[in-house]
Amino acid sequence: MSALRGAKNLAGIGMTSQRTRARMVERLREQGIADARVLGAMAAVPRHVFVEEALASRAYEDTALPIGFGQTISQPYVVAKMIETLAAGRAGDRPLGKALEVGTGCGYQAAVLAQLANEVYSVERIQALLDRARRNLLGLKLSKLRLGYADGRGGLEKAAPFDSIIVAAVAEGVPPALLQQLAPDGRMILPLKSRDGGQRLVLIERARRGITETQLDPVRFVPLEAGKA
Ligand code: SAH
Repeated sequence: MSALRGAKNLAGIGMTSQRTRARMVERLREQGIADARVLGAMAAVPRHVFVEEALASRAYEDTALPIGFGQTISQPYVVAKMIETLAAGRAGDRPLGKALEVGTGCGYQAAVLAQLANEVYSVERIQALLDRARRNLLGLKLSKLRLGYADGRGGLEKAAPFDSIIVAAVAEGVPPALLQQLAPDGRMILPLKSRDGGQRLVLIERARRGITETQLDPVRFVPLEAGKA
């Protein structure tokens, strides 16, 4: 039953069709996303599969949408921008190497990451959301993607180190465990609270000479919470 539903949903019709998704990708290009690998990954993942049926017709709008439990699926532009930043200057069609995502949510971003990484580990602290993400991802057959139930502030020690780390929820500061699990030449992108009460994307790079931190665009994310729920 779920496989049949998945198969029917994957192709999409009308507002969930391949053409509507191509228009979303065209808008991302107009907004400044230039890496063809990232645009290709955004074109490959059917976002409508990750939202409830009642919202499916809005899946390709450039907006965050509710996914239950007070959480949201991230805005396509922000997903593309974060991934493009991680991939920048890295060659090949798997520029993210081994990647960790904190905050699986509905699984959308994890599916995009899986297009551009050798392996993706994604952890979520709300079990019911993780179950939903597993169902959403079923039809996509992403063998490189592994999901886990964990408080992602501790990273994922057993699979570390990671070439790329992406955090989908906002914190006050960089969780130390994530910094420790970043490989040499690794990159992490995460939203952090800024002093003015807003939020900003921050890029952390581990180079031979040490850690560098670059402030990027202002954003709006749900909070990175403690413990499992
Ligand atoms: N990546 C998702 C966005 C999810 S929203 C997408 O593709 O759209 C952020 C998610 O982070 C929520 O599901 C929330 O439950 C989760 N989260 C918050 N704090 C967390 C933590 N400490 N560890 C793991 N997940 C966390």
